[in-house]
Amino acid sequence: MEAALSRHPSSLAFDYCSPSLSTAQLLFVDTCIQFGHQASVYRGRLDGRRVVVKVYEELGFDGLLREVRAYKRLVSLPTTPKYLGVFAPSDKAWAALIVEDKGTSLASDWAALPLADREAIYKAVVDVHAAGIYHGDLEVRNLVRDEEGRLSVVDFGHATVDHACEQDACPELLDLRQNLDL
Ligand SMILES: [Zn+2]
Repeated sequence: MEAALSRHPSSLAFDYCSPSLSTAQLLFVDTCIQFGHQASVYRGRLDGRRVVVKVYEELGFDGLLREVRAYKRLVSLPTTPKYLGVFAPSDKAWAALIVEDKGTSLASDWAALPLADREAIYKAVVDVHAAGIYHGDLEVRNLVRDEEGRLSVVDFGHATVDHACEQDACPELLDLRQNLDL
């Protein structure tokens, strides 16, 4: 399945991504919060619930699949957005990932974050690793905070699954501890 996906991402991606959204669900998209070469990110509402919609161009479908695999694995983790579905037009020229809106990106440097935030971020990433996911692109911009101040890890477009974490020797956790000065 993995090999087939990498050879024919556009033809098989949506079988893998099922279940897709029901056509009965109403999605409204408003603000564009990030415009990119392979994907652009919007805020919106799905049946009244606040969501983030990430629209992938076809050349970014590998990233979309990585996100879907990771989010499905992380579905019970409160410090990552809940996966809600994927939708695409019939020609599959693009596809959109929909996840729960967990707040706005931290506009900060690692060093400027207070200790409580740094500890919360580290714990959140340890939990992601414990669930078998290696994030692959841990930057401050990929951390968000909701209105209650809770932090979440987002953007799993570079993630790999089946990570067997050895905390003290794990390269991503080592880098993170260094960045967070922990
Ligand atoms: Zn690890």
